[in-house]
Amino acid sequence: MSTETPLDLKKTVNLPKTAFSQKANLAQNEPARLEKWGKLDLYRLIRRASEGRPKFILHDGPPYANADIHLGTAMNKVLKDFIVKSRSMMGYDAPYVPGYDCHGLPIEIHVERGLEKKGKKKNDLNVETFRRICREHAENALKSQTRDFKRLGILGEWDNPYLTMSNHYEAETVRMFARFIERGWVYKGARPVYWCIKDQTALAEAEVEYHQHTSPSVYVKFPLQSDPASIDPALAGRKVFVVIWTTTPWTLPANLGIAVHPDYEYSAFEHGDEVYIVASDLVEAVAAKCNVGETPPKVLARFPGAKLDRLEARHAWLDRTSLLMVGEHVTLGGEADAETELDVSEAEKKAADSKAGTGCVHTAPGHGHDDFVIGKRYGLEIYCPVDNAGRFTPEVEHFAGQRVFDANDAIVEFMRERGVLLFSEKYQHRYPHCWRCKNPVIFRATPQWFIAMDHAHRDLVEKDEDSRDRSNFTDNLPETPAASLRASALAEIERVNWIPGWGVDRMRNMLKGRPDWCVSRQRVWGVNIPVFYCARCTEAVAEPAVINHVADIFERESGDAWYTQDAKDLLPPGYTCKGCGAEEWTKETDILDVWFDSGTSSVAVLENREELRWPADVYLEGGDQFRGWFNSSLMIGIADHDRAPYKTVITHGWTLDAKGHAMHKSAGNAIEPEKLFKQSGAEIIRLWCASSNYFDDMRASDEILQRVTDGYRKLRNTARFALGNLDGFDPSRDSVSLEEMEEIDRWALAELNRVTAEVLTAYEAYEFHNVYRALYNFATVTLSARYFDIIKDRLYTFAPRNKARRAAQTALLRIADALARMMGPILVFTADEIWENLPNRTDPSIHLALLPTTAGGSDDALLAEWEQLYAVRDDVLRALEEARVAKLIGSSLEAKVRLEASGSTLELLQRHQSDLRYLFIVSQVELGNANEGKDVSITISVADGEKCERCWNYSTHVGESERYPTVCERCVAALEEIEQEGLSD
Ligand SMILES: [Zn+2]
Ligand SMILES: [Zn+2]
Ligand SMILES: [Zn+2]
Repeated sequence: MSTETPLDLKKTVNLPKTAFSQKANLAQNEPARLEKWGKLDLYRLIRRASEGRPKFILHDGPPYANADIHLGTAMNKVLKDFIVKSRSMMGYDAPYVPGYDCHGLPIEIHVERGLEKKGKKKNDLNVETFRRICREHAENALKSQTRDFKRLGILGEWDNPYLTMSNHYEAETVRMFARFIERGWVYKGARPVYWCIKDQTALAEAEVEYHQHTSPSVYVKFPLQSDPASIDPALAGRKVFVVIWTTTPWTLPANLGIAVHPDYEYSAFEHGDEVYIVASDLVEAVAAKCNVGETPPKVLARFPGAKLDRLEARHAWLDRTSLLMVGEHVTLGGEADAETELDVSEAEKKAADSKAGTGCVHTAPGHGHDDFVIGKRYGLEIYCPVDNAGRFTPEVEHFAGQRVFDANDAIVEFMRERGVLLFSEKYQHRYPHCWRCKNPVIFRATPQWFIAMDHAHRDLVEKDEDSRDRSNFTDNLPETPAASLRASALAEIERVNWIPGWGVDRMRNMLKGRPDWCVSRQRVWGVNIPVFYCARCTEAVAEPAVINHVADIFERESGDAWYTQDAKDLLPPGYTCKGCGAEEWTKETDILDVWFDSGTSSVAVLENREELRWPADVYLEGGDQFRGWFNSSLMIGIADHDRAPYKTVITHGWTLDAKGHAMHKSAGNAIEPEKLFKQSGAEIIRLWCASSNYFDDMRASDEILQRVTDGYRKLRNTARFALGNLDGFDPSRDSVSLEEMEEIDRWALAELNRVTAEVLTAYEAYEFHNVYRALYNFATVTLSARYFDIIKDRLYTFAPRNKARRAAQTALLRIADALARMMGPILVFTADEIWENLPNRTDPSIHLALLPTTAGGSDDALLAEWEQLYAVRDDVLRALEEARVAKLIGSSLEAKVRLEASGSTLELLQRHQSDLRYLFIVSQVELGNANEGKDVSITISVADGEKCERCWNYSTHVGESERYPTVCERCVAALEEIEQEGLSD
């Protein structure tokens, strides 16, 4: 259809057109998109679309429902979302049930402070009221966290998360406790546990943090009571002392013994008329430090530690015996590292490396784990004369009523006056602190409920004179019989896939060293330990059937029933004491460790929700969870199924500032998610998570986030170019087959397949930083700098429906479609926006689509050939730049390029002769022969002919057409095509 008048040239150029704007406006557009997803009920749509697919379960570690989220919490959840969304797009049914950890000390402390501000005390309220306030606090906190997690674009069961304080969950927690009892792994006994004297409760391993702390380091002499001649005749009639070292002088009033290694050599050396015993390796160091003995020290006798076994010393100042014992746990070197640090004395023994010890270990069975173990073996009392508030009890001579840390200095002075102190100094070491109040903790023996790591207990409540139990304790780590919790856990972790791989070592070290799990807390906001005591004979009742009966009540009425109902009503009707037949009861007042709560999640959630299954495919949390949730979940998995509840465990690093420091609101270096939502959008947080290697610590600052924003812009502009040039493209009508495409289009699609393979591999391996890197390089190098630049001429100047143009569009559609899918799990908002702007999309959201496939494979020969062409192109672009600087040409289209080459290079260039002008974005390219073996030589000159008004290329044919006298021959052909087709669709 020829028109009368010539076309308006400007209107014949196909400029990009798309609703996908250059400016992202994420802060405004993200909430709008979330609303749209809400209306679609997108999460349900995904569930429905995934029905029947293989399951993939990421089990959410519940964040603590106490405060607003910070960047670290956001990062944790975003990484989980990457996994869930990518597995979903791989064709799995990957439901996501988020959870919240609702009980525990931090909430109690928060509520207590709130009461204090109102001039009230916890004791003014009854327990039910206090618990109700705690519950409300948790509910408010989890509501605000949920709002922020949703704002981050995380899809999941937000209307129905799992809460450790729900009736069902509390019931399951109690049933789990019954399961441990069934296996004989629960007992009540007095053994040292971490104790916070501020919060007045026992603490779990995971509830202490190690920080530098200054303690008094003291060398103290204990006079030997036994006949020294029994060690060596040379000592007959001498005044002999055993020298101990400690950094906790306050534990000395509880000293009941001194441990030495049976196989190490010990020496007795002379100091005036006294004789001191220390490990031979440490004689010189001790003598020098305490300024005792001659130089060099005069050693009177050497003997193995075993010689001292069961001899008696006298306490340094109390009228009491201190028993000499042998134990393999005594060492002479190596500072304990944070992961294996168990208690204070452990660190002391190992501190000998810094020449601080004596090889004779002060032993207070009520104040240390190893002390307890060896004390039990030697039949010592588990003596702990320190009350809940950390004050010496009245029986402690001289120091009764003093707080232990305050008493340290007084004890040092007292020993100096008594002449039993050889030396004291300030000592810096890593010391356990309470995770909540940050105060140093103590090790203290109190009656607590434990989960036994090494053997079943026949008696629920440990009796002091239980010889059967005592016989099970050995020197070092207790033996691990086949069925023990420790042995099963150690075996099970070897079957788990740990990412990064060092996770298994960390877990193994933690499991090998950990003492029995203290699961009781002297608090009220939690699940009660469901045990009854006979009011007449004190017999403890903890039969699984009785506990399960209590669980059913909790299921109906919540755990508050423990406080609101009488023991009688909680027990099965007519229950009588098996010991004495009485029917009067008291209830246990301790609650369970919150790690027991959260550890129960695999059972309470995975096994109780239809869409989930046990075990989980993946757990992903920070490195602090080795001692925490990874551990407690493992314990519960083994108690219930003899298996770990996870197949893969992934650990992420910490969020730090640009200098590598932890972020703190008070330090002013914290980056708050809420602020970013309003400034740059959640997408930038998500992309930051993907841009850093999360297996290491992740750094964030305004500057780092600016770089991420720049990266985002590049990805966005790449998508925008593709979408803009798809205006009017109807895939069903306009697509061109691969065979009919230009070679460069096929090259671009081969590159797409290559990068797709890379991205799929990275998603599979949970390496999101590699996804980002691959996509970023593809967008900036392959597409922006090469393909898009080169095909612009074809897209803009060819007739809209020209086959060559449609070939480029066909490639662009595949690229945009694949980019959206590959970005989908990470840039959840932007990928969906790209998707919305693609022609002929089917699913209403990218999140219902699958990741792209690499169908057609990647054509390696083609890729290699084009790499060679791009190498020549790089040289040409450099030469053009030089010509531009020399003012020979302005734009590259004003140039003609002459290439001279030989051999296979010349053949390659000849084969692509017609592509070259487009490849270089110049008007003309000439090829010529170079001498054999010479590199490609490049000559730039001014293009022949005149500039075409329409395409800006230079041509000697401009002016040949009468109808369009200002355009080149290519444009004349294009205009004729347009006239025939009609300008617009
Ligand atoms: Zn504390
Ligand atoms: Zn009884
Ligand atoms: Zn032209």
